[in-house]
Amino acid sequence: MITQQRVLATQIPGPRSVQMQQRKLAAVADGVGTGLPVYVEAAEGGIVRDVDGNQLIDFGSGIAVTSVGNRNQRVMDAVTAQVQDFTHTCFMVTPYEEYLEVCEALAEVTPGDHAKKSALFNSGAEAVENAVKIARHATGRSAVVAFDHGYHGRTNLTMALTAKNMPYKDGFGPFAGEVYRAPMAYPYRWLTGEKQCADEAFDAFTSMVHAQVGEQNCAAVILEPIQGEGGFIVPPAGWTRRVADWCREHGILFVADEVQSGFCRTGDWFASDHEGVVPDLMTTAKGIAGGMPLAAVTGRAELMDAVHGGGLGGTYGGNPVACAAALASIETMREEDLAGRAREIEAVLVPRLQALADSTGVIGEVRGRGAMIAIELVSDLDLKTPAPQLAAAVNAACHERGLVTLTCGTYGNVFRFLPPLTIGDDLLAEGLDILEEAFAQALR
Ligand SMILES: *Cc1c(COP(=O)(O)O)cnc(C)c1O
Repeated sequence: MITQQRVLATQIPGPRSVQMQQRKLAAVADGVGTGLPVYVEAAEGGIVRDVDGNQLIDFGSGIAVTSVGNRNQRVMDAVTAQVQDFTHTCFMVTPYEEYLEVCEALAEVTPGDHAKKSALFNSGAEAVENAVKIARHATGRSAVVAFDHGYHGRTNLTMALTAKNMPYKDGFGPFAGEVYRAPMAYPYRWLTGEKQCADEAFDAFTSMVHAQVGEQNCAAVILEPIQGEGGFIVPPAGWTRRVADWCREHGILFVADEVQSGFCRTGDWFASDHEGVVPDLMTTAKGIAGGMPLAAVTGRAELMDAVHGGGLGGTYGGNPVACAAALASIETMREEDLAGRAREIEAVLVPRLQALADSTGVIGEVRGRGAMIAIELVSDLDLKTPAPQLAAAVNAACHERGLVTLTCGTYGNVFRFLPPLTIGDDLLAEGLDILEEAFAQALR
């Protein structure tokens, strides 16, 4: 058991981590980056312990993955039991019940009470690829529309859907075709002002599809209801619903990519729930299985069934150990009301971040929902000039003090908070104290 306490035993990174990082440089491809090179020995709840005995407060959850916390008892028990039964048969060869149970649970927790079916995969990118495959089969159309600031993965098709060049796309082209991009309703940076954002972004989206793609050629529109890597961008209330409704009018499938925003992260099962949006297809991964690799496409049964038998799958998709972990995670979310806990975390984070904005004058916006909260750093509040160097400096100062933090955003100037939903209020408060110190140091 790991005490839920921050411990600074050495400098961060400590000597053993520094040694391991040298081995990393020798053995691991440089293209695989590490944001905070402390090597982990164990993690539990809201604490990550490194090989030098430092205990860091976790405001990242391994990028919104360990929402139920590391060493979650239910997940550990389920995984241990499953490993003792069997680890793999391949669902496409000889199937097993755990896969069915995950698909049944997905039908229950995702928005809408229509008939739903799911298919399971290993990663968010793989789920997005398969959502596009399904959408193309179901509609007989090929074009796919994504949005500015969107992030959908690093495979060839998902790189094409992802908006940001560095580091995700640079030099990796040519990318998959028939992908188009629309402006995102990003209120803080909408050029004519926040008030105009919803209407103008909606018009820009529909006229782009009409003029450049043709509605009749468009299989799917894919949107993160709250954008993740792009900067935790929350579109204006009602906008996502308008986009989804417009898609339906034109026979275009609305795909919600809830890989980052899903599974109680935003204070409801899914970010779509806050907006009353019922997507035709939804992709999930990250928070679904307490850290085990699992992803899903869930959607209207008749769409999911449009693909011929054998047309979807993969060797490991819906691995039984990952499925067992997902079932235990979903049970934990239900039993411990982690959606409610995410709303409590929001209530702790937002006022303190707002106060930090007032006292520092370098935070242009505090935004997000639940335990998916971010601050956008700017060097000039009126001009909204992005301040990526400040974000990097604050990030480094947090790391030195034993707080695991993450940045994001198209301009690299967004600081995001994704604590495990099981983190205690004391660790949350201590993390925010550290953040204040880090700002004071970076601005000195
Ligand atoms: C992380 C992410 C992906 C890609 O998931 P991987 O498991 O890294 O392939 C796709 N979409 C969104 C919204 C994400 O945040």
